Amino acid sequence: MEEVNAINTIESNAPSPVPVAVPVATPLENIPQSGKFCSECGSKISAKAEICPNCGVRASSPAISEKSKTTAALLAFFLGGLGAHKFYLGRTGMGVLYLVFCWTFVPAIISLVEGIQLLGMSYSEFAMKYR
Ligand SMILES: [Zn+2]
Repeated sequence: MEEVNAINTIESNAPSPVPVAVPVATPLENIPQSGKFCSECGSKISAKAEICPNCGVRASSPAISEKSKTTAALLAFFLGGLGAHKFYLGRTGMGVLYLVFCWTFVPAIISLVEGIQLLGMSYSEFAMKYR
């Protein structure tokens, strides 16, 4: 009986355990899937962020969005022979070149390949290439 009492005394005198409730979600992991990518370092940042927390570069590039990668790919597939995706991506010089040689159908073939590449490209790659 005395031994049990001794143990109880020790336990009640022991320092209270560290609180279990530790904040779980860190802000960086909490970024929704709809976030954008930094045009400089390619790291995923909040869609509302104007400056990349990773490299500090201003991240607002309204021309480049998740949607624009798909749009560029579709343009490459359907109007690629006219360089539409090149104009869309701001590569005007290449677009003109495609347009000039569209009658050879070579640009159309290249565009098909480029369209597939665009679809397969990760968004951060796309953002780094066409910003
Ligand atoms: Zn960055």
